[in-house]
Amino acid sequence: MLFYSTNNKELKSDLKQAVIHGLAADKGLFMPESIPVLPDSFWDELPRLSLGEIGFETLKYFFCPEIPEDEFRQLTNEAFNFPVPVVPVSSNISALELFHGPTLAFKDIGARFLARVMARFTRDYERDINVLVATSGDTGSAVANGFLGVKGVNVFVLYPKGLVSDVQEKQFTTLGQNITAIEVDGTFDDCQRLVKTAFMDDGLKQQLTLTSANSINLARFLPQMVYYFFAYAQAVEQGHKELVVCVPSGNFGNLTAGLIAHRMGLPVKRFIAATNINDVVPKYLASGHYQAAPGIATPANAMDVGDPSNFIRIQKLFQHDLNRITEVMTGLSVNNDAIFSTIRDVFDSEAYVLDPHGAIAYYALDNCLEQGEHGIFLATAHPAKFPETVEKIIERRVEQPDRLKAFLNGEKKVENSSGLYEEFKQVILDNAL
Ligand SMILES: *Cc1c(COP(=O)(O)O)cnc(C)c1O
Repeated sequence: MLFYSTNNKELKSDLKQAVIHGLAADKGLFMPESIPVLPDSFWDELPRLSLGEIGFETLKYFFCPEIPEDEFRQLTNEAFNFPVPVVPVSSNISALELFHGPTLAFKDIGARFLARVMARFTRDYERDINVLVATSGDTGSAVANGFLGVKGVNVFVLYPKGLVSDVQEKQFTTLGQNITAIEVDGTFDDCQRLVKTAFMDDGLKQQLTLTSANSINLARFLPQMVYYFFAYAQAVEQGHKELVVCVPSGNFGNLTAGLIAHRMGLPVKRFIAATNINDVVPKYLASGHYQAAPGIATPANAMDVGDPSNFIRIQKLFQHDLNRITEVMTGLSVNNDAIFSTIRDVFDSEAYVLDPHGAIAYYALDNCLEQGEHGIFLATAHPAKFPETVEKIIERRVEQPDRLKAFLNGEKKVENSSGLYEEFKQVILDNAL
C-alpha cells in the first residue's frame, strides 16, 4: 500500500519511507491511499480473536507484504500484549480500559507497535535512527518504554523542567539503555521548538538520521484501531447494541483510528469527540469554522491542544464535507469543574475511579447518550498517574499498580539543557555516537 500526503494526494510514499520520515516531503501527514472493507470471515472469527490477532487481521492490509505476514503476526502479538477490558461502570456506560500497559496510558499501544515497525525497517540500516520527542508528560513515557532496548534506535525525550508530574517524569528518566531524557529550562513549547530546529538542521541531519514518534507517524496512530474492534466484540458478548463510542481527544490520533476502523466496517452507531476547554473541534463541528488557538492548561493535560495535528486526517477521510463528518461524530467540550464533579459523582455512585481524561469522556457520553444506546468511553489513563487531582477529590488514596511503584523507586538520570539550541545539539551528538 502507498500513503499520500494530506497536502497533495499525488505525493505518495511507500510504507518504509512513511514510517521512517514521519512527515511527507511537503510537510503533509500520511494517509493510506485506500481503506479496505473487512471480509465477512473476519467478523465471524472476531469473537475468538486475541488483541494481537485482531491487530494482524486488520493492520495487515496496510503493513503487509512490506513486512512479511509471518513476521507481522509475531510483531502484533508482541506489541499488543496487555489486556484492554470493557468494564461496566453504570447501567448504560462501560469503560474501555486502555491503561494496563507499561506506562498506564493508551499511548503504549501505538508506541509499542511503532517501535517494532521502526526496528524492522532499520534492521539493515547502516546507521542508528534517532527519535526526538518533546513531551508534556504521557507521550515521552510511552515512546521511551516502547523503544526501550530496541536495537539501532536511540530515543531523546525532551521535557520542561518542573512542569511534568513526578509520576510522569519517573517513567522516562529512570530507564537508561538507549533512552536519554533531557530536562529543558523552559516550557513544552520550548522543547518542541528545539526538536523542530533539529529537524531543520541540515548539518546535524548529515551526521545523524533523525525522526519523530508522535501521533503524526502513521505507525503510531493506525494501530490504535485494534482496540475498537476488540471493544466491539466484548460489548456484543455482554449483550450491548447500538454502540456509541466516546473518545477523549487532544491531537485526535485516537479518534482518527476509530473512524478508520468504522470505515473498515466496525458497527459503531456514532462517535463523540470529547475535549477539555481546548474546544476548536467541537466548535468546528457546530459551526463549520475551524479556528486554531493557543493551548490552555487543564487537569487533563494530555489533551491541552489548541490546534490538533490529526484533525486534517479526519477532514481527508470525509473529503472536507462537514455534513458527512457530523453524520458520524459530534463533539462536546468539558470544563474543569465538570471534570472534578464527574470524578466525584462516579466514585460516589458507581465506586469507579476515573482519571481526568476519562472523566471528560464519561461526562460527554452521559450527556449525549440517547434511549436504547450503550456508551463505551475510552479510559485513556490510569487514575494513579494523576494522584494530585484524583486523591483530593475522592478523599482517599489511589492504589498504585506494581509497575508504577517500580518506576517511582528508580533513579532519575537526566541531561540538562538551558534551552539553547547549540547546547542541546551537543547533548544529542554525545549520546547518539
Ligand atoms: C494523548 C492522550 C489523550 C489524547 O489523545 P489524542 O490521540 O491526542 O487525541 C487522551 N488521554 C490521555 C491520557 C493521553 O495521554
